[in-house]
Amino acid sequence: MTEPILLSPPDVGPLEESYLIAALRSGWVAPAGPDLQAFERDIAERVGTGGAVAVSSGTAALHLALLGVGVKPGDVVLVPTLTFVATANAVRYIGARPVFVDCDPQTGNVDVSLVADLIGRLRARGERIGAVVPVDMFGSCADYDALVPLCADAGIPLVEDAAEALGASHRGGPAGSFGSVAALSFNGNKIMTTSGGGMLVSDDGELLARARHLSTQAREPTPHYEHRETGYNYRLSNLLAALGRAQLVRLDGMIARRRQLRDRYAKLFAPVPGVRLLGAEDAESNCWLTVITVEQRRSGWHAADLAVHLRERDIETRPVWKPMHLQPVHDGAESALTGAAERLFADGLTLPSGSALTEPQIARVLAAVDEFLSVRTGGPAA
Ligand SMILES: *Cc1c(COP(=O)(O)O)cnc(C)c1O
Repeated sequence: MTEPILLSPPDVGPLEESYLIAALRSGWVAPAGPDLQAFERDIAERVGTGGAVAVSSGTAALHLALLGVGVKPGDVVLVPTLTFVATANAVRYIGARPVFVDCDPQTGNVDVSLVADLIGRLRARGERIGAVVPVDMFGSCADYDALVPLCADAGIPLVEDAAEALGASHRGGPAGSFGSVAALSFNGNKIMTTSGGGMLVSDDGELLARARHLSTQAREPTPHYEHRETGYNYRLSNLLAALGRAQLVRLDGMIARRRQLRDRYAKLFAPVPGVRLLGAEDAESNCWLTVITVEQRRSGWHAADLAVHLRERDIETRPVWKPMHLQPVHDGAESALTGAAERLFADGLTLPSGSALTEPQIARVLAAVDEFLSVRTGGPAA
């Protein structure tokens, strides 16, 4: 019997255990405490922002980030159609409307020319654009060289969804440092995890103070329970912050392992016609998930064929995110489309990418892919 190999399982061990137990023994078993403060300080330092606020999920961070830049009910917010649903849902929480923007077929990141175009068209129609929310897809930063000046010139806040990209950079600037505010995620499948958690990072101290206030039920600093507005229960637990601190110590090592794995996939697929690694040109990616795209016309096989072959061997793969404009929950939303995201959804496949994969597990995955390729391409791949 073979043990299943998962796409991106948590990578935790003795260091995480020791940090967690120390936090537990400290008595700070609450959404407050020294690990929480230290975790915020460490992440802000890593991302190079003035501060950070730790919350219970990346989705909560996005919600507070959008509120923080002043998104209002009725606003439109530009969101990539190729993303996880949380990006669009956070817009809906406020009663604002996501407008979905297609992606660059090479990188999977938002198509900047479409963003520029939409800003003009939406404004001509009298819409208020509350924010532009680029997503750093699969750990590769969006094109901030173009997006930052575009949003600045238009006077529209840029909120960076860096949920997948901690540790990545763009021309030396760390992921999470590009917007007025950015959201990180520490969900169990991300590059590092607190089992569930998120963080807002920003240079805007006022924005962060307000996010912290809203994340703790908007409780006023009085001895009794005084509330002037509707807040949320979004604060991260001190225990989970301790877990996060241990993970952050190991972040660079975990990224290096994912990068090594990506390099091995790259070597394996290099001679295969019609197959390419999404975002492979980006040397500054954190390599969160390795995605191949398969052009069936040239390869003679479909991404789903490889998925079936691997599933039969207990190896998990996933399609690329199903675009938001195809999601029933966002039916009727406006979008600017080129077909690029739909093609990536049809032709893309996410391969096991976790930093906790052992050498025998990696060997098993690579052998299974190699076996598939030898049959499908009529000879050994390499
Ligand atoms: C994971 C993810 C989120 C949400 O993070 P959670 O911590 O799961 O709430 C948001 N956006 C993107 C692009 C993600 O991949």
